[in-house]
Amino acid sequence: MQTNIYVTGKPSNSVSSEELVDFSNFCLELLLPKYKSKRVIDIEIVNTAQDLDKDTLAECSPEGEEDSKGRVYEFLIQIRREYSRRKTLSVLAHELVHVKQHLLGELKNSPDGIKYTVWQGKRYDDTKINYYDYPWEIEAYGREGGLLRRYLISINEKL
Ligand SMILES: [Zn+2]
Repeated sequence: MQTNIYVTGKPSNSVSSEELVDFSNFCLELLLPKYKSKRVIDIEIVNTAQDLDKDTLAECSPEGEEDSKGRVYEFLIQIRREYSRRKTLSVLAHELVHVKQHLLGELKNSPDGIKYTVWQGKRYDDTKINYYDYPWEIEAYGREGGLLRRYLISINEKL
């Protein structure tokens, strides 16, 4: 697995940086079992007052250059610091689903300043659809619980 994962910022006391890296690798193995290209994931633990909107739990931003197919290989995941361990892991799993979507070219952000998103080659006007109806969010919310449960089982932790 060619993933470089870096954690910056201090996670809450209940979860260590090492576990965030282990958990990310666990999720990526399940989400991208055959994917071999190199990618870089920066996980940034942010304080509540910092740059996330007040209603945003976490955010996944593609970074770096796009290839000829519009795919990127570097990501910044920002997560609020105040969450419990399980909430942090669940939110991280959700954002890693978005990483998978970007890496496979399923999800593409619009060029700067234009409000639409391309999903599976189809354009979605973000202003006309409810956030919870975005197909990429349905997948991310749908997978986060299962990824967390499988991880907890893998480390013999009670559900
Ligand atoms: Zn999401």
